[in-house]
Amino acid sequence: MATVIDGKAYAAKLRSRVADAVSMLITHHQVKPGLAVVLVGEDPASQVYVRNKGKQTAETGMESVEHKLPGETSEQDLLALIDKLNNDPGINGILVQLPLPEHIDESKVINTINVAKDVDGFHIQNVGKLSIGVDSLVPCTPAGCILLLKDHLGDLTGKNAVVVGRSNIVGKPVSMLLLKEHCTVTIAHSRTSDLPAVCRGADILVAAVGVPELVKGDWIKPGATIIDVGINRIEAEGGKTRLIGDVDYTQASKVAGAITPVPGGVGPMTIACLLRNTVIAACRQHGIDIPAGL
Ligand code: NAD
Repeated sequence: MATVIDGKAYAAKLRSRVADAVSMLITHHQVKPGLAVVLVGEDPASQVYVRNKGKQTAETGMESVEHKLPGETSEQDLLALIDKLNNDPGINGILVQLPLPEHIDESKVINTINVAKDVDGFHIQNVGKLSIGVDSLVPCTPAGCILLLKDHLGDLTGKNAVVVGRSNIVGKPVSMLLLKEHCTVTIAHSRTSDLPAVCRGADILVAAVGVPELVKGDWIKPGATIIDVGINRIEAEGGKTRLIGDVDYTQASKVAGAITPVPGGVGPMTIACLLRNTVIAACRQHGIDIPAGL
């Protein structure tokens, strides 16, 4: 049976390292990193994410600021708030919870965020920096995938990595990060021919698709490491719902060498990496070396 890669435990350790770094910044540099999260509208899932982000930010000792705006907020008013946060020295990281209401241009909003405070790593300049391999603020979920892989496998050099999914928030950035780790990277997507055969070539398989249990056991090379990014809510018994991934966990865990569960794998890493990005952003803004352990 495959080893279970425990993202929940790794994320807890990372949050504790972030808290140590925050305490060091406050004690030695009088810098208390601040994260502002902006939510527009009343989407229930987004409200849960924002609440969790705020709670975990405060638990590490950072300043957590939430801006909850009504769904009918104009693009102009949202851009004005971002401008204010860009110029607020107490705010080191700005995150605008996506998706935004349809009347607001998402890319215009993201690209208005001060690139040095773009802790989601979605600003076009951070995307460009990542693609040419220079230091940038890296998107949180992809960064979490790489931390789990390196923790489990050590050096990733020369591994065949297959990423299923080519979205701007997961598939493409995780592919760039795997390339930076010297993997041989294949990006597969909805138009890939013979996806099972492509997946069978993978020493590392990252599934970021959004299709429940798409990846079957016989798509997996024996001993491969599987990172399941998918979060799919499905109907369960008794009118309840439960979360499953993009990989058929029961089948895959009989073939793979290691696998992330859903929930409890990649999911908890996202907020932990957001907190880490906020500390990194604060250090860079103040010319402080990034603490070891981050
Ligand atoms: P997306 O819809 O933006 O992109 C999905 C990608 O999968 C596309 O590039 C598409 O080409 C590809 N695809 C779709 N159907 C396919 C098929 N049948 N075969 C091969 N490829 C196919 O999704 P996303 O935002 O990248 O998210 C992917 C999954 O990851 C979702 O389940 C999402 O909920 C989850 N997610 C989790 C986290 C987290 O863990 N914190 C963060 C972001 C996304």
